[in-house]
Parts: sequence; C-alpha cells; structure tokens
Amino acid sequence: MYDVIVIGGGVIGGAVMRELTKYRLRVCLVEKEDDVAMGASKANSGIVHAGFDAPEGTNKAKFNVLGNRMMEGYAAELGVKFARIGSLVLAFSEEDMRLLSVLEARGVRNGVEGLSVIGQAELRAMEPNVSRNAVGALYAPTGGIVCPYELTIAAIGNAMDNGADLYTGFEAASITKANGVFTVKAASGKEVQGKLIINCAGLGAGHVAALAGDDGIKIGARIGEYILLDRESGGFVRHTLFTTPTKKGKGILVSPTVDGNILLGPTAEEAEEGNTDTTAAGMAAVTASAARMCENVPLFNTITSFAGVRAYSHDRHDFIIEESAAVEGLIHIAGIESPGLTSAPAIAKFAVEELVSKHLPLRKNENFSGRRAPDAFFKQLSAEEKNELIARDPAYGRIVCRCEQITEGEIVRAVHENPPACNIDAVKRRTRAGMGRCQGGFCQPSVAEIIARETGIPLEQVTKSGKASRLLMGRSK
Ligand SMILES: Cc1cc2nc3c(=O)[nH]c(=O)nc-3n(C[C@H](O)[C@H](O)[C@H](O)COP(=O)(O)OP(=O)(O)OC[C@H]3O[C@@H](n4cnc5c(N)ncnc54)[C@H](O)[C@@H]3O)c2cc1C
Repeated sequence: MYDVIVIGGGVIGGAVMRELTKYRLRVCLVEKEDDVAMGASKANSGIVHAGFDAPEGTNKAKFNVLGNRMMEGYAAELGVKFARIGSLVLAFSEEDMRLLSVLEARGVRNGVEGLSVIGQAELRAMEPNVSRNAVGALYAPTGGIVCPYELTIAAIGNAMDNGADLYTGFEAASITKANGVFTVKAASGKEVQGKLIINCAGLGAGHVAALAGDDGIKIGARIGEYILLDRESGGFVRHTLFTTPTKKGKGILVSPTVDGNILLGPTAEEAEEGNTDTTAAGMAAVTASAARMCENVPLFNTITSFAGVRAYSHDRHDFIIEESAAVEGLIHIAGIESPGLTSAPAIAKFAVEELVSKHLPLRKNENFSGRRAPDAFFKQLSAEEKNELIARDPAYGRIVCRCEQITEGEIVRAVHENPPACNIDAVKRRTRAGMGRCQGGFCQPSVAEIIARETGIPLEQVTKSGKASRLLMGRSK
C-alpha cells in the first residue's frame, strides 16, 4: 500500500516523485514505457524560459517564473548541467519591435528580472551570426538551458535512492477506488494500491482521468520537429534565439544545448498522439526559419532530426494543476505544454505542499538526501583522474562510443544506477553513447552486449528503445 501513486515518468512526474520523498510517505511511480523520460520530456528544446510569454495570472506565467528561479539549485542538487545563457527574441520589422515591448511589459508584470529591448548594433555584438535583417531583440538574461531527459532521469533516480519505487512497463489500464484506496492495474495484470493518485501522464492524462471516472480532462497533441547540429558548430550562437511568438507557440528557435550542440526547431502542428515522425515539410520549415534568423546556418553539420509532442489542454489553454472535482484524491497535473520543463520544480512543490497536504500529513523525512552525484564523464577528467579510475576499474579504460568518448565503465554504471537503463537508447540518454556524429552506428552492438552481460537479458532480446525494437532476430548458425 502506497500513500501516493504517481502516473507518468516525465519531468513532471519525476519532480513530483522526488518532492514527495522529502516527506515520510510511501511513494511509487508507474510508467508505461520501458524507461522514464519517454514522452515530451525526451524531445523538447531544453530551454529554461524567462517567463515573458504567458499572460499574467495564468498557471503558466506563475510556475514559469518560479521554476526558472528554482532551476539552478534544482539542477545543481541533481548533478545536472544547467547554463543561464540568456535569450533573445529577434525583431525584423517595426511591428516586431512593438511586439517586443508588449512581451517586455508582460514579462515585468510576471516578475521576470533584467529584461531589456536592445538595438541592432548591440544584438550583432552579442550574436555575430545573427541575420543582418534583424533590427533589434528582447534580451532576457535569466533564460537558460538544461537537458530535459537528464533532469527527469536524475529526479527519478534520486527519488528511488530516497526509497520510492519505480514500475516501468506498467501502463495504467484500470483504476478503481474502494474504501478510500485506489487500485491501479496494468494491462499485464500487475497492480499497485495507494491513497492518492497524481496524474502526470502527459498525452495520456485525459485517458488516465477517464479511467478513474473523471471525463473533464481534454488533451490535444501538437508535434514539434527539430534538427540537431554537431558540436563542431557549437559556437554558432551563444544565446537562445527566438522569433516573435505566434498563436501556436514560441516559434522556431536557434539555441546551444548544454552538451555543446546547436538545436534548430521546433515546428508546431496538430498531431496524432503517438506520432513522432519527422517530415520533409517540417525540416523545410525549420531550415527556412533558421536561415531567416541567422547568416550561413551550418546545416552541413546536421547529425540528426527528431520530433517531440506537446500535450496541451483543449479547453483551458493553461496548465491544469488541481484535484479532480469528480474523484476525491485524484490530483491532475495535466496539459503541461511549454514551459512545463522550466516549471517542473515549482509545480512539484506546489502540488505536494498545497494539494497532497490536504489529504496526508507532510512529516519531514529526516533521511532525505537531495544530492545526486553528477555523471562524471570520463573524457572530462584530468589524466591523473583517468588513470586512477582505470586502476580501480579497468572498464573505464575501454572506449565504447568513439564519437563521444564514452567508456564501458560509464555504460555499466548506467545499467546499474537508479533508474536502471535496460535498452540501448536508455544507455544513450544517461551516458551520451550513440549521441555523436555516427549516431550509434559504431557502438550500438557493443552497448547491446554490455546490457546483455550486465542484466542477464539474452542478447537477442535487448532492444533499441523497448517494446518490439529488437536489433537481432536470432543467431545464424
Ligand atoms: C516540441 C516541444 C518543445 C518544448 N520545449 C520546451 C522548452 O524549451 N522549455 C520548456 O519549459 N518546456 C518545453 N516543452 C514542454 C515540456 O517538454 C513539457 O511541458 C514536459 O516535458 C511535460 O512533462 P510531463 O511529465 O507532463 O509529460 P511527459 O514527459 O510526456 O510524461 C508523461 C509520461 O506519462 C506516461 N504515460 C502516459 N499514459 C500512461 C499510463 N496510462 N500509464 C503509465 N504511464 C503513462 C508516458 O509514457 C510519459 O512518459 C516542449 C515540449 C515539446 C513537445
């Protein structure tokens, strides 16, 4: 019997799970995929937004600004890379310049600090590769970047280290309530019981609500396509560059990532729930917009393209963070589109302190330790540190991913650390093995062998990213 069952292992469910472990509560998280961070939290822009986009008084505005302030400490505690690089919304016309003033005034009302509208000369000094047609920009020094799946994995791992349970491959398929206790059953027949449910199921939040008897959550899906450039082009821009926002969102951006790549995108088109295909039209829209924003975009350094899907509220057009009116003890954190990544730590704090506390006493967990050791990437160590590590564990002396210089020791650690990586992409998200220029073409078979050896999963059954994504069909004689 758990006190709280969190449904959905994205950045929101992860932050909530960790926040709950600060108190003496029995907590579990159920996730339908084989790993965590498999929904919107896997594929997004990774921007810690300053907070001038959302209208004053909305949940989006409130939690964006609070989350932005909390992110530095949150990421540091979890050993996750974060950089406050600042953002620039570019203007290309007088009309755009007027819009920048509207955004600036809105940002000030939302509590964003340090905003200023700058002219062309200052803009070009800050960003030498910006288009000559850009006439000015809104500068937000509090904007930042973070790796979204690293943040999710670290929060869930830290919650597990503090005693919470994770059940992957557990798709909530039925929810019943009797005598004040919820029973959540998976299609596989597994079940968990708890006093409260926190619905953080992203695109599945409407379905999860309905399973529990609440038909009031309506979720739409909007796809965003991206192009990722190799680290060789890493210095192309220094800040996150946006165009002025449209009705569909913040528009296409050009931004550094915390790992030193350059990200172009996303588009914003209505999508089917599970579709993360990239399209020729999407790629054309991304490249056209990037070319409008910057001179000579180094597209020749493209290493991959991908897409993520936003879950938005059809009717409320805001984050839904409240207890269900229909089912007591069912708390929704739904419709968390952008800036959900930015807002995650603030949403989690609010949900636990203001919503969970109405049902359960929040007694401090004296044993809680919020610190998680950062992933000490081998390549970043000094020669002495490397030698010391190899002497302790020779697996650190074997490079598996040549592009990213990732060692066998790091992969073994990812397979055993909370939350354990059990497929090739899960290893990739934790170690960056396969994230480089060859995109895993060289190291995938070796990673599969290490997973098989360390977990006991037969090699033929090791998958790329769960379900039926097997690499091998069998052995040839
Ligand atoms: C293209 C794009 C760009 C974005 N850019 C930014 C940005 O730059 N900055 C920012 O702040 N935000 C950004 N966002 C928003 C941010 O990504 C989301 O707000 C955030 O990831 C939402 O997290 P979540 O945990 O609610 O959802 P998810 O990460 O989708 O997690 C939901 C989880 O629930 C699981 N699930 C669903 N149904 C069930 C079930 N029945 N049983 C068990 N598990 C279930 C899913 O498998 C999934 O893992 C962007 C989003 C997209 C798509």
